[in-house]
Amino acid sequence: MTDVRTFVTDHRTDLLADLDAWLRIPGISAQPEHRADVERSAQWLAEAFQRTGFPTVEIWPTAGMPAVYAEWPASDASDDTPTVLVYGHHDVQPVDPIELWRTDPFLPTIDGQVLRARGASDDKGQLLFHLLGARAHLAATGRTSPAVNLKFLIEGEEESGSPHFQRLLEEHSARLSCDAVVVTDTGMIAEDVPSAVTGMRGLVVATVKFHGPDLDLHSGSFGGAVPNPATAIARLAGALHDEQGHVLVPGFYDDVRALSHEEQQLIARVPFGEADFLATSQSRALAGEAGYSTLERLGARPTAEVNGIGGGYQGEGGKTIVPSDAFVKLSFRLVADQRPAAIQRAVEDFVEARVPAGITHSIEWEGDGVAPCVVGIDTPAFGALSRAILAAFDAEVVLPTREGGSGPEAALEQALGVPLVFLGVGLPDDQIHAPNEKVTLSMLFKGAEAAAHLWQEFAAIGRAGLKG
Ligand SMILES: [Zn+2]
Repeated sequence: MTDVRTFVTDHRTDLLADLDAWLRIPGISAQPEHRADVERSAQWLAEAFQRTGFPTVEIWPTAGMPAVYAEWPASDASDDTPTVLVYGHHDVQPVDPIELWRTDPFLPTIDGQVLRARGASDDKGQLLFHLLGARAHLAATGRTSPAVNLKFLIEGEEESGSPHFQRLLEEHSARLSCDAVVVTDTGMIAEDVPSAVTGMRGLVVATVKFHGPDLDLHSGSFGGAVPNPATAIARLAGALHDEQGHVLVPGFYDDVRALSHEEQQLIARVPFGEADFLATSQSRALAGEAGYSTLERLGARPTAEVNGIGGGYQGEGGKTIVPSDAFVKLSFRLVADQRPAAIQRAVEDFVEARVPAGITHSIEWEGDGVAPCVVGIDTPAFGALSRAILAAFDAEVVLPTREGGSGPEAALEQALGVPLVFLGVGLPDDQIHAPNEKVTLSMLFKGAEAAAHLWQEFAAIGRAGLKG
């Protein structure tokens, strides 16, 4: 028997060989001409699961790109053995603009601790550390099967917005049942600052249209005597926030779960470089809801954003009209425990109350929206994750971070009804979705260690313990 770190260290070359092979497959889900490559990517991963020892490995077709499912039950499972599902994705982003790549995106190159290729960090590198992690877990415990019932669901369409994921979850709900989900598609603050995502925001998106007179009117003959839809839509957009940056839609904050004091303290310890943030955003100032730090504004607070506004004459020079039509495009980022449907209703009421006489309106929503998800830092699952990360990183605290964006994770949480934790080792400078994507190899090795410890931690808590 050997310990986790020794095993991972002794088998680094296995992980590098896997990376080199898999990263050469250009599985770009968004581009139909790469369909065969995405299928090849799924096939490669399925074979990798098999040779790692997973007794059940299946490729699950969807109406789009295939997912890969793998299962390895604990051979000595009892009623209290937890079942854990790892989520990730095997597809990758397009490579455009290709001229900005310094190396071929599908010819992995290693320079010191940096491996460069499309998918190196998002998400192939992060999935591959799990294979080494599972082997390290067995080696360190002397087991021949994992200490938990281990399942993997690896999607093939995450980079295209997961259009068939909900359906996949419904179709296979019995096979996917579990006691906890480990999402491996995120990152940490820095190599020496281990952290874990504790929430992702939800999203609803709308287009609001105002229609006034049935034709553009002469502003001399009619202006000042009839309602102007462009003015009305601008007033609507302006009414979304007060001077302090609070959203004024009635009921908007009703269901928002406030940060616990402890999480607030920990978030305050997350290093935040204002100058870097401004440089990255190419904005000249910070702005937002009064009373919250930038990290809280991004992760723990909901927002209302005007994404576009228009109407009337847009060409050169002047055109003296009262326009017939105007529109505004709005999006709302949501946090736990806001529900997309309730926010949609609140926004509809808010808009209706601001439509002047003589103007008709419509609101179109982009689908049902995405729910937010959150991981309580006081939950047993987060405790297990923290201990596993601390063991891998030789650290004393795992800082919680909130993702400002939205993803398919909420669908997982809702469909499976179990706690979610995020084990991801990407770094902020990995340039995911951008040219010259890279991964830091030492982070992958630490990820493998953390995964190996995590299965032990979950087993020690047990199913009953995970329920809290
Ligand atoms: Zn990803």
